[in-house]
Amino acid sequence: MKPFLAGSNIDTLTQWCLERKLPKFRSKQLANWLYEQVEIDPDAMLNLPQNMRTLLKEDFHAPGTQISEIVSSGDGVEKLLLTLHDGECIEMVVIPAEERLTFCLSTQVGCPVGCYFCASGKNGLTRNLSCGEIIEEFMLGTKRAGFPDNLVFMGIGEGMLNVEQLFPALEILTSPDGFGMSPRRITVSTSGYVPGMLKFAELKKEYNLAVSLHAVSDDIRAKLIPARVRFSIAEILKAADLCRDANNRQYTLEYTMIAGINDDLDSARKLAQIAISHHAKINLIPYNATDGDFRRPERTVIENFENEIKSAGARVTRRVERGGKKSAACGQLRISRMKK
Ligand code: SF4
Repeated sequence: MKPFLAGSNIDTLTQWCLERKLPKFRSKQLANWLYEQVEIDPDAMLNLPQNMRTLLKEDFHAPGTQISEIVSSGDGVEKLLLTLHDGECIEMVVIPAEERLTFCLSTQVGCPVGCYFCASGKNGLTRNLSCGEIIEEFMLGTKRAGFPDNLVFMGIGEGMLNVEQLFPALEILTSPDGFGMSPRRITVSTSGYVPGMLKFAELKKEYNLAVSLHAVSDDIRAKLIPARVRFSIAEILKAADLCRDANNRQYTLEYTMIAGINDDLDSARKLAQIAISHHAKINLIPYNATDGDFRRPERTVIENFENEIKSAGARVTRRVERGGKKSAACGQLRISRMKK
């Protein structure tokens, strides 16, 4: 398969110019188009000679990904459905706030984890995104909405099961020869896939980690996440602590609140204790109902749960809900496209 121009770092671009007998300065021009002008399409790279642009299109997917649908909510949030070079679809979300712009990005087409409450995992994994596709996702969002302040890899997929592609993409995003973002502005979320978390710790970079704990006991967790890629809470917290020490960043415990499953006050107290003893912070996510059996807790239940955590002395935030109701839950837009 052809490589993606967007996933090529400066060394690859230099090597390609060499192989195509182009002067070395052309690789710098190319890098400038990609990482400064955020341009993927060789036809738009007007200071490159025509023969070089033709060669680029012959040798690379450039671009391989297109925005095929945009769902806008009244509050400025946009969900983009992206069609990949082989016709598969993923989603990304553009979230503007007063002083910052955040992109929520996908790492896989579908998801092998298959959390019972999640639309993204309903049909399993189709395939991994390549490094170039992850970068194209970022570039398409940037072309549409501007350079983001923050990136969160919390879209479709389990990024820690695709570290071979995700980590080089993180490198391009943060390298001074790439997009030059601060690692502190990038968060990678995981459902607790321990082998990937251990590799994440080995990067020793100040990326943020968000661990989707969702439960305070392994029994409750088993009601939410299938066994095939589920690790025990003790193993997950041990790996998360390693990441915290290696990356020098406090991690976040993501907790999707689901009525009657994990929204009782005893769970709130235990969650607070876990967070305090692991120096972690908690982010509560009231469940965004898809069409399954799981339900969102009542507003008062959510408030009481949050207050119980606060009075236990743990740091807690509640995810600000934006993006409207239509296709708001992760993966729903892709599922409705698949049904069509
Ligand atoms: S919640 Fe995350 S890990 Fe679980 S199925 Fe959905 S995308 Fe995959």
